[in-house]
Amino acid sequence: MQVYDLVVIGGGIHGAGVAQAAAAAGYRVLILERNSWAAGTSSKSSKLIHGGLRYLQSGQFQLVWECLRERELLLRIAPDLVSRSDFYIPVYKQSKYPSWQIRLGLMIYSLFAGFRPGCRFEQLSKSEYPTLAPLRLNDLKTVFRYQDAQTNDLQLTQAVISSARALGATSACPARFVSAKQTTGGYSVSYQEGDEVKHVDCRCLVNAGGPWVNQIAQRIVPHPQPLKIDLVQGSHVLLRGSLANHCFYLEAPQDQRAVFALPWYGNTLVGTTETLFRGDPDEVCPLPAEETYLLETVRHYFPEFEIDILDRFVGLRVLPHSDRRFFKRSRETLLNVDQQVIGIYGGKLTSYRSTAEKVVRQIQKILGKRTRIAHTRKLQLRLEANEDSAPDTSGYNAD
Ligand SMILES: Cc1cc2nc3c(=O)[nH]c(=O)nc-3n(C[C@H](O)[C@H](O)[C@H](O)COP(=O)(O)OP(=O)(O)OC[C@H]3O[C@@H](n4cnc5c(N)ncnc54)[C@H](O)[C@@H]3O)c2cc1C
Repeated sequence: MQVYDLVVIGGGIHGAGVAQAAAAAGYRVLILERNSWAAGTSSKSSKLIHGGLRYLQSGQFQLVWECLRERELLLRIAPDLVSRSDFYIPVYKQSKYPSWQIRLGLMIYSLFAGFRPGCRFEQLSKSEYPTLAPLRLNDLKTVFRYQDAQTNDLQLTQAVISSARALGATSACPARFVSAKQTTGGYSVSYQEGDEVKHVDCRCLVNAGGPWVNQIAQRIVPHPQPLKIDLVQGSHVLLRGSLANHCFYLEAPQDQRAVFALPWYGNTLVGTTETLFRGDPDEVCPLPAEETYLLETVRHYFPEFEIDILDRFVGLRVLPHSDRRFFKRSRETLLNVDQQVIGIYGGKLTSYRSTAEKVVRQIQKILGKRTRIAHTRKLQLRLEANEDSAPDTSGYNAD
């Protein structure tokens, strides 16, 4: 029987990141994904590599600082996959957050990012406003411009998997994790590939199941103590045609939440929402009320933009259970270490690499260090040339 140091369950960005970082640190790794790479949340995000300007409001300074550091690193190691984009924040007479508050937030954001080129912000002069069309100009008081980064989340995950494989990790996809039982040296793992149930032994398990994390924990014996979580769905709509070749950071008129309108392969991606989800993660779907909310926001700021929906998709955030508003809950990644099982809860696409390095430090505590063959800080990530990695823009013919 094959023996691995660790089996990673789930081929989203976190599973891929752990497989890469652990293989780079010298461990024998098997990663299992039941559908296709990034089939879960990791292809349903807003596709931003960012510090999360809005998290400053909820005091999540450590998260913002970490994500900005990772953003700069990803721009260097994955230039084919991550690129800087201009973001515009229009402030109107009716906006909840006044200009001084946004300026202060942007100053802290730039400071955390190190005030390097690409990390500064500016206030547009009034003579530039007409260039923002089709943005509504009446009652417009101020417009700020700063930079963050965009990616294709599916391609980024595929590139990390490919890097993990190049470092010696074994991958199985589609391959569904069925169960794991503790043995004297670790775990005996069963997974299903096609019609065949296969068995391997490993010393550590990494549960990178995203919204399925607690379902997967139930299949491990003895069960690791699950963390109490809420699943919060976030929907996007893809609209035909381009609003601009830059991004808009908007305040939703209904509840003053942040909503992005982003250029996406010649069309416009708008998101996202926050709706508590109580069902089976396999059954999540965008709700009509979420679509109405996003379209009302678009109409409010771009009244002349003709709306034609090309696509809609939804992802699930894993947030710590609490009575606090979703906005106020921590977006930090939580690692739940129980004996030789490490569960990854929540987190950001942007910080996947540093999360993976934290998981490897836990593995080193359990298994001891190995001879490192590479470091993820230095490994270049490249756009996959194969057909699977091409973005599915079929049917999205931009005007
Ligand atoms: C709406 C929304 C927008 C977001 N936008 C951003 C953003 O712009 N920038 C950012 O940095 N972060 C963003 N995030 C956060 C980020 O997308 C997630 O933190 C990240 O994608 C989670 O990745 P993951 O690998 O933990 O989970 P997932 O991507 O969900 O991966 C879990 C995988 O486990 C697999 N799996 C489940 N059960 C089994 C089994 N039995 N056997 C094998 N495999 C199994 C699933 O198929 C899935 O592929 C967003 C999140 C949401 C919900």
